[in-house]
Amino acid sequence: MTKYKLEYIWLDGYTPVPNLRGKTQIKEFDSFPSLEELPLWGFDGSSTMQAEGRSSDCVLKPVAVYPDPARKHGVLVMCEVMLPDGVTPHSTNARATILDDDGAWFGFEQEYFFYKDGRPLGFPEHGYPSPQGPYYTGVGFKNVGDVAREIVEEHLELCLESGINHEGINAEVAKGQWEFQIFGKGSKKAADEVWMARYLLQRLTEKYGIDIEYHCKPLGDTDWNGSGMHCNFSTAYLREVGGKEYFEALMAAFEKNLDDHISVYGPDNHLRLTGKHETAPWNKFSYGVADRGASIRVPHSFIKNDYKGYLEDRRPNSQGDPYAIASQVLKTISEVPTKASAAA
Ligand code: ADP
Ligand code: MN
Ligand code: MN
Ligand code: MN
Repeated sequence: MTKYKLEYIWLDGYTPVPNLRGKTQIKEFDSFPSLEELPLWGFDGSSTMQAEGRSSDCVLKPVAVYPDPARKHGVLVMCEVMLPDGVTPHSTNARATILDDDGAWFGFEQEYFFYKDGRPLGFPEHGYPSPQGPYYTGVGFKNVGDVAREIVEEHLELCLESGINHEGINAEVAKGQWEFQIFGKGSKKAADEVWMARYLLQRLTEKYGIDIEYHCKPLGDTDWNGSGMHCNFSTAYLREVGGKEYFEALMAAFEKNLDDHISVYGPDNHLRLTGKHETAPWNKFSYGVADRGASIRVPHSFIKNDYKGYLEDRRPNSQGDPYAIASQVLKTISEVPTKASAAA
């Protein structure tokens, strides 16, 4: 038997965006534990905005498990928060609201800033560094500094070793700003992995005295870019059947549900989705082929392939909850009749 360090990780009840929480328990297993072998656990919900003081226990239900490359015999356990009965999802549990669909695929592009001493990493104490331009996908000390790439590389390695399906990384438009992309098949997979990747990033940067700033417009109304988390999505029907008629009905449903989407696409999005800097205004839905100024960008390949493939919703921001985003996207898709459902 080996003593494993199980890090149970969950989302707290803070609004408008939940924070990651985690605590460790040690348990013995013959070999690396499977999800089924991991027990329910509890925590004090009154300390996380998830319960009143008197009956404050909440239940942690393991839903995804990853090896923790940074710890000897380490296990990362993503959990859903449940009520004391262990079966009813807590009201803060957005993951439980995602429709189960193995055919739904998501790719999230998480942008973020490194922050140190209250400003983006690499910014001088007063004023600004030289303007945006060379930083995006840049190389060299004057563009990326002396430590950001080390962290980004270490984070990439941690994620790949833990089985998180990173698809790529790049330096972004603002100084101190970076991106990683995660893709997953199954309606909850990519969202689980984005939260776990965020956890690994935040834990990694502790020792550097650096924080991750996920706010979508941390530098306010300036000429400095904000951060998004574009949500690329497809379903089996979109990939295999699709068609112009279905696509147009789908876009009409996205337009009709604009408010529901914006409400879960991250706070303060009106500061970012202004209609400038390759964004669409937050309160007006649009779509366009290869259009980075639209709410939804339709890849060239989608049109060439008879309206089949994936679409990119460019509105979700860096601070959004990928669970809530995936949930809303699938809810809207489910409202649109398919040929099969229309015939039924
Ligand atoms: P860009 O920065 O040009 O928007 P990225 O390469 O950063 O493009 O991101 C594209 C994302 O689209 C990736 O996360 C990728 O996994 C995702 N993606 C590609 N094909 C599909 C698909 N069929 N369904 C869902 N997501 C997809
Ligand atoms: Mn990208
Ligand atoms: Mn980007
Ligand atoms: Mn994108």
